[in-house]
Amino acid sequence: MKKIYKEIDTDFVKPNSDCDACDIEYTCFECEHNQVKEKYPYSYYEGYGVWTKRNKKFIEEQNEKL
Ligand SMILES: [Zn+2]
Repeated sequence: MKKIYKEIDTDFVKPNSDCDACDIEYTCFECEHNQVKEKYPYSYYEGYGVWTKRNKKFIEEQNEKL
């Protein structure tokens, strides 16, 4: 059975005024990634704008692959 992970609400993500890739309303992926990881260290990007909460072990395994 496929496990369902809790989706993170990314409404708190804000464009970074110091970033050239961000716009007034648009937040680039790098800035979104940094802000989500700061708030949820054990978050994982599933693709298609979806972030989920994972456990520490899973995230550490992902980081080892990079
Ligand atoms: Zn940016």
